[in-house]
Amino acid sequence: MKLVTSPHPPRRATWFSFLTLSRLLLILFGALPASAIPPADTLRVNAALEEVFIEPTFYSVLEDPSGTLTLEQVQTPEWAGRFQRASTLPTTTMDHPGAAYWLRLQVQARGELRQHWYLELFDSHLNNVEFFPPDGTAPTITGAGLPLSTRKFPYKNFLFRLPLRPEQTQTYYLRLVSSSKTTFLSRLRTEQPLAVHFQTEYGLLGGFYGILLIMVVYNLCIYLFIGEQTYLRYVLYVLSCSLVFLSEDGLGFQYLWPTQPALNELIIAGSPILLLLTFSYYARHFLDISQRLPRLDRWVRAVVLLSVGGLLIDTAWLHSGWGFWLYLLPYGLIYYAAYRVWQRGQRTARYFLLAHALVALSVGFLILRRLGIDTFTNTATVYSMNVAFVVEVVVLSYALGEKIKAIKDATIRTQGKLVKQLRKKHEVQNQLVEQLHHNQSLKDQLNSELEGLVAERTAELSRQSETIAAQNRELLQANGLLALQSAAIEKLNKELQHDLQEVKTARVLSKEVDFGEFSQIYPDKDACLAYLANLKWGEGYQCRKCGHEKFCDGREPHSRRCTKCRYVESATAYTLLQKCKFSIIKAFYAVFLIYTHQGNYSSQELSRVLDLRQGTCWSFSQKVQEAMRRRRQSPDFDENEGWTHVLLDATTQDAEESATSEESVARA
Ligand SMILES: [Zn+2]
Repeated sequence: MKLVTSPHPPRRATWFSFLTLSRLLLILFGALPASAIPPADTLRVNAALEEVFIEPTFYSVLEDPSGTLTLEQVQTPEWAGRFQRASTLPTTTMDHPGAAYWLRLQVQARGELRQHWYLELFDSHLNNVEFFPPDGTAPTITGAGLPLSTRKFPYKNFLFRLPLRPEQTQTYYLRLVSSSKTTFLSRLRTEQPLAVHFQTEYGLLGGFYGILLIMVVYNLCIYLFIGEQTYLRYVLYVLSCSLVFLSEDGLGFQYLWPTQPALNELIIAGSPILLLLTFSYYARHFLDISQRLPRLDRWVRAVVLLSVGGLLIDTAWLHSGWGFWLYLLPYGLIYYAAYRVWQRGQRTARYFLLAHALVALSVGFLILRRLGIDTFTNTATVYSMNVAFVVEVVVLSYALGEKIKAIKDATIRTQGKLVKQLRKKHEVQNQLVEQLHHNQSLKDQLNSELEGLVAERTAELSRQSETIAAQNRELLQANGLLALQSAAIEKLNKELQHDLQEVKTARVLSKEVDFGEFSQIYPDKDACLAYLANLKWGEGYQCRKCGHEKFCDGREPHSRRCTKCRYVESATAYTLLQKCKFSIIKAFYAVFLIYTHQGNYSSQELSRVLDLRQGTCWSFSQKVQEAMRRRRQSPDFDENEGWTHVLLDATTQDAEESATSEESVARA
């Protein structure tokens, strides 16, 4: 690390880490009054002075590359002659890390001194510092690589008391070892300005760290409450930022890790790299670069990783002094990404740009100083870094809040939309329910109407069924009438039939009919017997034995039995057909034929017509002709009487025989 040899008056390019702000501050603080002192080999102090800046011209420098020389050795004329005035050296820095540098300073006190004087070395990163007082007492050996307890004054910078004596010129030796490039920035001070300086510096730094601490705690709390990762990243960023400042101004070593010099050296070397990592880690997430500019994000990541790698290598081995530029590249890239994101419409990116504009400005001043342009170098521009960081931290914290608020607003808007949708849904549901109710009531109405209709219909039906029943009754009555009428009709019919029969019979009686027609009039034995019975008893019954007039039916069809003497008379008894050997119907027809032909009907013809043997026909024909003769001779004979009168002719003999035989049959 290269350090400024003399910030005032500006003479040449002064190289400075942009992280060594507090040192710069102190330089400027001290530089302004120091300008009154003319350059000289011997530094002179008096009672009127309170503070003197030690120009490089007051130092004589001896480089000890091996780092093995002792005070006695460098005081020998051999080495003492090799001391060079610092202002004449080609460089005014400790260019060879690891080498020991011997500084010789001569101080002369003029007049009586009312206060003690102190030598202060600004670079708190010096690994090893040995201060040799002129009175030969034990040297003070301290440094960033040794515990804080090795310092007589537990102060972040190195502070040594000068045992000045009035009107005496004393020679002081300092032996410095540093792992990085450094300068010989130092100053002489009395107690009073030192006290004032302590108050001012520690007050300012306290405020500075106080703000950082508040931001850390505040954002950490928000992270714990919300769980938003950006807050955690921001906290990490601010923490590493604080770490860088703490290591740079030495307050970390003074208060936080005073017994850990190794840790102190590690933090001094590593915290800027850590800051770069956490810053890119935070900024990428805050700006949503990975989503908005994925290609650029890949570049940012690559550049950051390469820079970190380069910085690690440089810090561990190379000590090239070009580390500063390795910080600038990724930082500039992220700032450019923020600008692109802002252009694409992310409003919170403008806070990022604003916050880092100040940092960029202070870095710009730093670069100008590094390039040797000191036009703008003054207390304000050197302070600007601390101010810029504080502003950045606060603005970014606010921006985070804004961002989260935007997210929350978006969420609330979405929720509002959802609520609206839900409400709409609810309304639709209500409408549906209403519709359903309406449908239900319609259905109920319909049902009740239907019920009314059904009841009406039922009543009508019952009325109709009553009507039908009445009609039925009427029909039944009509049926009764009809039955009566039909009975009358039947009776009439029967009478008509009977009349027809009589007509037909009369026809048979009057003229010749064939057997077919004949058998229609006398179709069966029963009809013949009925006819015979009617012929015999048509005018009344009288028992032939006892003259009794009452009878009942006999066993044979159409026979009659006297109820008194039980004499049974068949229908054929005492008729021509008694004891006839063939069918009574054929016998009837034979009688008819013979009678209608007046006895002149041949037995051959009769045999053919009746399908009987001729002998049987001949004997029956004789019997009929005999009966016809007897009838003609009978006193009650009428010329016009029918053929059936012949049937009743029979001999008494025959009748007696017949009666006896029939009686025996009845008895049996
Ligand atoms: Zn009788």
